[in-house]
Amino acid sequence: MGYLLINGTIITVDRNRRIIRDGSLAIEGRDIVDIGPTEELLPRHSGKEVIDTQGGIIMPGLIDCHVHLAQALIRGSADDLPLADWLSKRVWVLQGNYTPYEGRVSAELCLLEMIKSGTTTFAETLLVSRYGCDGIAAAVLQSGMRGALAKTIMDASAYAAQEHTMYPGMLEDKEACLEEALALHQKWNGAGGGRLSIWLGPRPLGSSPPGLLREVAALARDKNMGIHIHFAEIREEVELLEHTFNKKPGLLLDELGLLGPRTLLVHSVWLSPEEMAVIRQRKTTIVHNPSSNAKGAYGFCPVPELLDLGVNVTLGCDGGPSNNTYDMLGEMKLAACLHKVNKLDPTTVPAEKVIEMATINGARALGLDQITGSLETGKRADVIILDCNKPHLVPNLNPVSTVVYAARGQDVDTVFIDGKLVMHRRRVMTMDEEAVLVEAKAAAANLLKKAGIDVRSGWPEY
Ligand SMILES: [Zn+2]
Repeated sequence: MGYLLINGTIITVDRNRRIIRDGSLAIEGRDIVDIGPTEELLPRHSGKEVIDTQGGIIMPGLIDCHVHLAQALIRGSADDLPLADWLSKRVWVLQGNYTPYEGRVSAELCLLEMIKSGTTTFAETLLVSRYGCDGIAAAVLQSGMRGALAKTIMDASAYAAQEHTMYPGMLEDKEACLEEALALHQKWNGAGGGRLSIWLGPRPLGSSPPGLLREVAALARDKNMGIHIHFAEIREEVELLEHTFNKKPGLLLDELGLLGPRTLLVHSVWLSPEEMAVIRQRKTTIVHNPSSNAKGAYGFCPVPELLDLGVNVTLGCDGGPSNNTYDMLGEMKLAACLHKVNKLDPTTVPAEKVIEMATINGARALGLDQITGSLETGKRADVIILDCNKPHLVPNLNPVSTVVYAARGQDVDTVFIDGKLVMHRRRVMTMDEEAVLVEAKAAAANLLKKAGIDVRSGWPEY
C-alpha cells in the first residue's frame, strides 16, 4: 500500500541538502518511508501505486507564512494606491461587507489556488468574526491543507481617534475577540490529525495599544499559541511609532513580551540594527513579502542582513489586493531578484537560500520542522512534483535554479499533503474546482455592488 514516486530529481532540503538524480520517494500512510535511487526503491516497494514523474522535480511542499484567505475574493480591487487609501477606501470597506458566505467562498478560492501552485502549508492572519471563522476552518480541513489560522485581536476603542478609521463593519471589541480566539482554539486546534492550528493575530502596534499586545503575549504563552502580526510595513508608520513611544517599535514589542520563537513578524521592512539583533536573540521569524513590499512601494526588507545574522526568514504571498496571487514560486523568484538589484550584487540571496525560505524555514517558523519542510524518511509526506517536460523548464541543468528562476505555479503537477494525494496531474481531488470558480465570480460581483465600490481601470469600458 502507498505510493512510489519514481524517475524524478529530488530536492530533499534535508540536513545535507542532498539532491538525488533519478530518484524515488515512497509514501505509506501519512509518512515518507524511503528515499533513494529509483532502481533501488522499485524492487523494495513493489506493492505501491507508482507515479512516474518522467524527469520531474520532487521537492517539499511550499510553506506560505503570510496569507489572507479572506482577500482572494477581492483580488485586483486596490491596485496602485498608497497603503492608507488601499486600506480605508478599498480593502476594509469591501471586507467590512463580508458575511460568512463571502468568507467561505474566498477561503476556498485561495485554498484552491495555493494547492494548484504547490503550497501545502500556510499561516493566515487577521480573521475577523464577520468572515465566519468556523466556515473557514472547515474549508481548510476539507481542502486537505495544513494551516495555522490566526483570529484578529483588536480593541475597537483604539480606533476612535485615528485618522484613517477602520470601516465600522470591521471593528471588534477586545473581549469579544479574545473570547472568539479561545473558542476557536478549543474547537479547531489540532483538528484534521493535527493539520489545523489556531493562533493569535493582533492588529499591529499603533492600531493595537501596547497593553493589548502585552495581554496577547501572555495569552499565547499560557495556551501555547503562535502570534502572527504585521510589523514595520512603511517608513511613516515606523517613524510615527518611534515618536509616540520614544522607542524603536521592535524593542517595544520585545518589552511587551511579544517576540519569541512562536512569533511571525510580517513585512518588517524598516528594521534598525538593534531591532534585528533582538529578533535574532529571541529566535523570532521574519516573513518576507517581496510582491506586496514592491507593489505597495513599502521598501526593501533587509533580507541579506537578516540571513547573515542567522535570523529565520520565510516567505509570504500576502493577499489578493496586494500581490495579487498566492503563487509561492512567483514569490520565490522575486525574493531572489529583488535584493540583488537593491544591493547591485547578483550573489546576494542565492537560489538555495530562497528554497530554504520557502520550505524548511517556514516549517521552523510554524513549529512544524519535525514533521514537514524537507523530504526525509519519517517526516509527513508533504510533497510536490513539478512537471519539467515544458520548454521553459528544459534542460533543467540545475534543479535549484529551475525551481527558483524558471518554474511557475502552473508547473506543479501533483501534490501530496499528510500522505494524501490532494492534486494529481493538475486535478484537485479535495475540492470541486469548477464550482469554486463559478461561486467566487458571482460572490465578488455581488460584494462590489453591496459595498458600492467601483474598481475598474480609468480606461473606458464598452
Ligand atoms: Zn498582510
